Amino acid sequence: MSVTQQQVLDTLKTIRSPRGVALTEASVLSAITVNDGKVFFSINVEAGEARAWESVRAEAEAAVRALAGVSTAMVALTAERRAGAAPSPPHRHAPGHTQSRGGGVQPVAAHRPPQSPTSPMSRQAEIPGVAAVIAVASGKGGVGKSTTAVNLALGLRDLGLRVGLLDADIYGPSVPRLTGLHEKPELNDERKMIPLQRFGLSIMSIGFLVEEDTAMIWRGPMVMSAINQLLRDVAWGTLDVLVVDMPPGTGDAQLTLAQNVPLKGAIIISTPQDLSLIDARRGLAMFRKVNVPVLGIIENMSYFQCPHCGSRSDIFGHGGARHEAERLGVPFLGEIPLHMSIRETSDSGHPVVVSEPEGAHAEVYRAIGAAIREQLKGVIAAA
Ligand code: ADP
Repeated sequence: MSVTQQQVLDTLKTIRSPRGVALTEASVLSAITVNDGKVFFSINVEAGEARAWESVRAEAEAAVRALAGVSTAMVALTAERRAGAAPSPPHRHAPGHTQSRGGGVQPVAAHRPPQSPTSPMSRQAEIPGVAAVIAVASGKGGVGKSTTAVNLALGLRDLGLRVGLLDADIYGPSVPRLTGLHEKPELNDERKMIPLQRFGLSIMSIGFLVEEDTAMIWRGPMVMSAINQLLRDVAWGTLDVLVVDMPPGTGDAQLTLAQNVPLKGAIIISTPQDLSLIDARRGLAMFRKVNVPVLGIIENMSYFQCPHCGSRSDIFGHGGARHEAERLGVPFLGEIPLHMSIRETSDSGHPVVVSEPEGAHAEVYRAIGAAIREQLKGVIAAA
């Protein structure tokens, strides 16, 4: 039988907090999400208190995990810095997260070298065994970011790389649909989630853990702690590249994510229209702000290719992303046509690189993959 929210609360009542009252009485708990044996919540305290609360976080997580019917427990420590308060020094031994004034969450530095607390890099830690984490991002939804991320991961696989795919699009995880995977990940002996295997990729999605509509109502701090766990509490093994399908947009959540994930580069997906390009420009500015190199821009739905006669129409005014890339001084990685078979194969769980490996579309994704591999070759070779 699955655990209930009340059972979780009853367990948390037995844990004492540094405030001298039970954890449930300390006004620090976020909403508790319980879904099919997966329990998620955060403990929100002030930055200066974070160290004192780490043991409580660990105790709460262990207690909830020990409950019958719990398969995964994810408890994040988030610390809010009050407006005007001095930034707290990084905690080198306290895993958890601090929430920035903008509402985003930054991990309290754990297992990483001391750096300036103002450096965005001070919040990042590499993922052991993973040579390069790259983000696939877009300024807005619906431009084909997830479709491109999956096919690009497959294109990189075709080049002989060991590739993982992390669906961090917490507002609408689409990797389960794109890959036809709907199983829940198992835990290994170290209680890390084992990524699902499909098409030679190691795959993890927030959609494997919660239902799509549940994911959409998550609060900001929950989002960041969930993504951190998807990165770090997953047995990724040895990978050359981990492709992260980012949530769309350039708001606080995305900025925080870009700051927290140890990215070796970002790829921006845009359609050719002006409006999409404006969003793409924001995306570029966001990554530059956190010193993440932009590996390039991909123009998706670049032109319409008729599935019947093969004729081409530039319905969105084709070429905008190429000009924009030139103007902004970043590589232009390639054009992907708007084609029925890309949509149909994605939506049926057999992306075009898998279902039509010899076709022209697969070739485009591989060519883009090759351009990316070229840019990452130092990192991959070093690993
Ligand atoms: P996003 O991740 O940006 O929200 P998706 O990857 O989910 O976008 O794509 C949105 C829709 O557009 C999906 O139905 C997908 O199959 C379709 N799509 C994406 N790229 C193409 C393309 N190049 N040609 C045809 N359909 C596409």
